[in-house]
Amino acid sequence: MEVGPQTRKLLLQKKVKLGSLICKTEDYVVANRCFRCSRFNHRFRDCRVEETCPLCAGRHKLRECTSSPTEFKCINCLTYNKYNQNKNICTNHSSLDKNCPSLQAILEKQGKSRITETADFRNTNTIHCNRSNKMRTQIKCIQVNLQHSTITTDNLMKIIEEYSTDILCIQEPYTIQTKMAGISKKYKIFASGEGRIQAAIVLTNNQVDNILIKQLSDEDTVVL
Ligand SMILES: [Zn+2]
Ligand SMILES: [Zn+2]
Ligand SMILES: [Zn+2]
Repeated sequence: MEVGPQTRKLLLQKKVKLGSLICKTEDYVVANRCFRCSRFNHRFRDCRVEETCPLCAGRHKLRECTSSPTEFKCINCLTYNKYNQNKNICTNHSSLDKNCPSLQAILEKQGKSRITETADFRNTNTIHCNRSNKMRTQIKCIQVNLQHSTITTDNLMKIIEEYSTDILCIQEPYTIQTKMAGISKKYKIFASGEGRIQAAIVLTNNQVDNILIKQLSDEDTVVL
């Protein structure tokens, strides 16, 4: 939600009631991260360095990654250590990890500069709403039409790592011949039928119980 500086101040002081939920608000600051190399402060189209896996910092695409979480390496924290040899920050995490020290440093810097701008009423701020109850009682689901595109599929793989989703409902997935492609092997794919697949469900959280109802599923519909 984007609001003016005065509303921002009020929202930060109080709680907000949304339906039956009492929410607290906080500034929403996002880092500008490249989809291709996971480094900060440039976009995909301006990327001049080699493609880097956001999970293990290897020279491959995310969907080709076979690393387990204990092998994850963050390219931004590796680079930080390289140039700051007296420091030794932890690098054993994915570069999409919300607790990444490099990401936190960037967000902190941005957050501070925005608040300074607000003080002289030149800017608006974006506020986002967190559920005050931290317990996980909901399932995060993304529904998306990929239009059979490999780039969109790659971007989706990065987004689900970042937002810790549970279920993806996909229309027009990227396919090679009649098989779904581009989805990381760690996730469970449900698709049905013999022809070109037009719909699929992907479970990105293996704790979600599931059973495919084959009698109701085909190329265009998947029922779990
Ligand atoms: Zn880049
Ligand atoms: Zn990798
Ligand atoms: Zn990191």
